[in-house]
Amino acid sequence: NRTPLIAGNWKMNLDHLQAIAFVQKLAWTLKDAKHEDGSVEVAVFPPYTDLRAVQTLLDADKIAFALGAQDLSAHDSGAYTGEISGAFLSKLDCAYVIIGHSERRQYHAETDEVVAAKVQAALRHGLVPVICVGETAEDLETHGASAVPVGQLEVALESVPADADIVVAYEPVWAIGSGQAATPEQAQDVCAKLRDVVAAKLGADAAERTRVLYGGSVKSGNIASFMREPDVDGALVGGASLLVDEFAAIIRYQK
Ligand code: 13P
Repeated sequence: NRTPLIAGNWKMNLDHLQAIAFVQKLAWTLKDAKHEDGSVEVAVFPPYTDLRAVQTLLDADKIAFALGAQDLSAHDSGAYTGEISGAFLSKLDCAYVIIGHSERRQYHAETDEVVAAKVQAALRHGLVPVICVGETAEDLETHGASAVPVGQLEVALESVPADADIVVAYEPVWAIGSGQAATPEQAQDVCAKLRDVVAAKLGADAAERTRVLYGGSVKSGNIASFMREPDVDGALVGGASLLVDEFAAIIRYQK
């Protein structure tokens, strides 16, 4: 009975004016949507500079999308030029923050330790961390699919209390933006192992409650096959979250 979460990671796309138009169109498109399961949570993760505009729109138009940021600083305040504190994100009504996306790990040299520090920062400020893990094509060849993401999650969950609200996102790096999604069976296998890590670190209740998402070339044509898997509780969507009709179709998936 975990509420499915469909999350759109916009990455570095859509300025604040485009963001407003996009969210308005998406809300309008979903206006009469009746999901067969009753409820699916929708979250959008715009660039920092869009957050205030999107927050204001969601509030004014009573749009029930959750808001999240794509990263945060491990620090709370101080001389960290260019960084964004979790305190600022909470003030903008962000519920979520993506941490350890593979693009941060690859292009900004974020280590598992940095990711763990950012998870702590998110929790200090009442944000739900969306902890991203996943293997590269090379990792897949050398270690198989689950070893690297399992190891990444183990470090990220160090010192996380058992009652913490977290989301885990399994994103195989080779599936991101490649058009080559994992198979539902592959996603299920790794997501189940990640849930086992949550159980080992935070306990059985946390494992039962925590949503584990799949991400990597999710589209309207494959979302249902992932959502049929017992340990896949939603999706972290990149490219397809930038197209109103396509993202709406993903949100309205039928199992
Ligand atoms: P794509 O959906 O574009 O493959 O991106 C996935 C992703 O990285 C979401 O965080």
